[in-house]
Amino acid sequence: MKAIGILGGTFDPIHSGHLRMAQALADQLDFDEVRFIPAATPPHKNKPGTSAQHRATMVQLAIANNPMFTFDDCELKRSGASYTIDTLETLRKNLGVQTSLSLLMGSDAFKQFDTWYRWQDILEYCHIVLVQRPIKMSHTSNESNPLSKTLESFLHQHYTENKHDLHDAPAGLITMQQFQALDISSTAIREAMQHGESIRYLLPDSVMDYIHLHHLYQ
Ligand code: ATP
Ligand code: MG
Repeated sequence: MKAIGILGGTFDPIHSGHLRMAQALADQLDFDEVRFIPAATPPHKNKPGTSAQHRATMVQLAIANNPMFTFDDCELKRSGASYTIDTLETLRKNLGVQTSLSLLMGSDAFKQFDTWYRWQDILEYCHIVLVQRPIKMSHTSNESNPLSKTLESFLHQHYTENKHDLHDAPAGLITMQQFQALDISSTAIREAMQHGESIRYLLPDSVMDYIHLHHLYQ
């Protein structure tokens, strides 16, 4: 069965942490493709300071030289909040049932998963692959908090350790992958820009040049 990884995000901006995560999981889990899907109006965050158009262009620049990485603007074409379940419904309709879909997620994103719109239906459309992000010990972040009881039991109920299971079924499983995540976040890049610090090597040069050209994050 063909296997596709899906990486959704605000990508404000996309950075090497996203790209390494997508590449490492594609290698470990034998994905045929990783699809990057920028959110137009993320339901769980403040409105991004950067237009959807800029964020989408930066994603396209970042993945341009990797034939395995693809760009999907389906969330940009819809109006209203960008719900993942709607995106998955569209993907399923276009790809059919004989494709394994895996939603890639950092541990920080999964901690709030039970607040997502129709979260309990999401596994009908895809698997979920989790990776641990470097833990931030800060009072402004919840990244050191444990999972809620609800998510803990949801995880156990659907968990598999065997990566081959993800290829044998189109959807329905959760797995965790070990990989050394880069300690890079869009927030840190925006803050560096604000302080006039260099962002070189935190993201592809093409994206850095685009940010400077369009005076983003000033
Ligand atoms: P922000 O700081 O604005 O929240 P971010 O760096 O977390 O931005 P998002 O666009 O929110 O980036 O992330 C999209 C997805 O990518 C999420 O599932 C997130 O957990 C994951 N992700 C982001 N950065 C990394 C990283 N360095 N390593 C692994 N996964 C990451
Ligand atoms: Mg984030």
